[in-house]
Amino acid sequence: MMFNDWKKEAYKPEENLKYLNKGNDFIDEDEINSALEQNRNASADEIRRIIEKAKKIQSLSLAETAMLMHVTDPKLWDEINAAALEIKRKVYDNRIVFFAPLYCANLCVNNCAYCGFRSENTGEIRRILSLNEVIKETQSVLDTGHKRLIMVYGEHPQSDINYMVDTIKAVYSVERTAPVSGRLTSIRRVNINAAPMPLSHLKKLKETGIGTYQVFQETYHKKTYSEVHPKNTIKGDYQWRLYALHRAQEAGIDDVAIGALFGLYDWRFEVLGLVAHAAELEKQFGVGPHTVSVPRLTHAAGSLISTKSEYLVSDNDFKKVVTVLRLALPYPGLIITAREKPEIKREIIKLGCTQTDASTKIGIGAYQECNAGEELSSEQFTIGDARSLDEIIREVAEMGMISSFCTAGYRCGRTGDTIMGMLKHCVEGKFCKLNAVLTYREYLDDYASPETKAIGEKLIEQEIGQIKNQEFFMKNNGKLFNDFMKNYEQIKRGKRDIYI
Ligand code: SAM
Ligand code: SF4
Repeated sequence: MMFNDWKKEAYKPEENLKYLNKGNDFIDEDEINSALEQNRNASADEIRRIIEKAKKIQSLSLAETAMLMHVTDPKLWDEINAAALEIKRKVYDNRIVFFAPLYCANLCVNNCAYCGFRSENTGEIRRILSLNEVIKETQSVLDTGHKRLIMVYGEHPQSDINYMVDTIKAVYSVERTAPVSGRLTSIRRVNINAAPMPLSHLKKLKETGIGTYQVFQETYHKKTYSEVHPKNTIKGDYQWRLYALHRAQEAGIDDVAIGALFGLYDWRFEVLGLVAHAAELEKQFGVGPHTVSVPRLTHAAGSLISTKSEYLVSDNDFKKVVTVLRLALPYPGLIITAREKPEIKREIIKLGCTQTDASTKIGIGAYQECNAGEELSSEQFTIGDARSLDEIIREVAEMGMISSFCTAGYRCGRTGDTIMGMLKHCVEGKFCKLNAVLTYREYLDDYASPETKAIGEKLIEQEIGQIKNQEFFMKNNGKLFNDFMKNYEQIKRGKRDIYI
């Protein structure tokens, strides 16, 4: 297809018009700036009131979030950090969900100043995976133990909506025997990170059966946005991106995910942008984002801004980003990726992160190439944590946390406002705990190294003990607990993919 024909189909800015208010979008920079300006010196009492509000699993206002970000007293930060972990425990219990990214193509018509895939980066070796290669990549990812993928695409006529649909179907079609047990296994949930799309394309994605659709705004600050995304590119249209998830909701994709690329502009402004975005989605569709991502700018080939931006976020401030978001938006999942180094990840997991990736490869075809002992050909940015899934699972087990591969939510209709309502009332976390244990059992039997299995067995026993002692699971003569144990025993005997 010719470029202009493709663009006419892929980019329909007129679909935004109905969401605008007299031509204005919902990011009111004056409101954000004055929230930041006017809430610098909250008293300790006021901060403690905000902490208590967040602990009741209520979202915070822009002003309240700004007050938290301006706290300077280390003792108050200790209280905020402790509250973040408490909120995470209440909503998500002690589990971490794992996923792997799968980069299908690095072709891109856009020219984002921070990204290795930008069109002007002539040093990048361009590649698009064939369906056969996607199948091989999926097999390699499955061999590590993953059940969830996030498929990542540049924006290009060759990796268009039809390519996305075909590659997603290819992933779902793969079956593989697990290395330790020899049981059959497959990817159970495919999430997508791709450019904004028009309604018609989003409906095709929905029909294909995706989990979450992620679009990061990169920066909510309009001047910075236009500086890093050239005007003559599709990505140069701030509003087309800002309303990507409104259109997704309208197309029936009700698990949507927001994010900002931290390091392009002031981190405090971006946090308020995310809070405003979540509030807008909740107001318009009755359901906020399923997850919030906080990618931090890392080195990308030939990109000056990726290492020299004046807004690069220090480790200390980055921890504040995660903590404050956990309080401000208590119920969406919070994703930290392999962009972060192990030492930061370790701390952040304690501050409220609920999902992360592992065994990560971001080069095109990199899972296969690594198996073949070849070097990566092309990457979008640099990763900070190349550890294997088994290693990270062992580490989080040592921290007392259970790793989850649960994909039950979207497969039994717990999506959108259903799952958000359950999370707000701290009920979904309970189902997740059961399904975390079930999928952990599968992992230990199918993939775990002897060291990970040893520590995992102790943790799983502990978890079952906790479940047994919770009233929620023992109601109606312990029906839920008994159903769970029946599934658990069946999994031990070799049955797979059963959930509550
Ligand atoms: N092309 C699609 C888009 O722009 O929405 C999605 C794919 S893009 C490969 C996924 C995300 O990677 C971007 O939204 C951006 O936040 C992030 N990213 C790009 N360059 C980065 C860098 N140098 N460091 C960290 N993250 C980066
Ligand atoms: Fe393309 Fe996305 Fe990279 Fe921008 S961030 S250059 S749109 S792949």
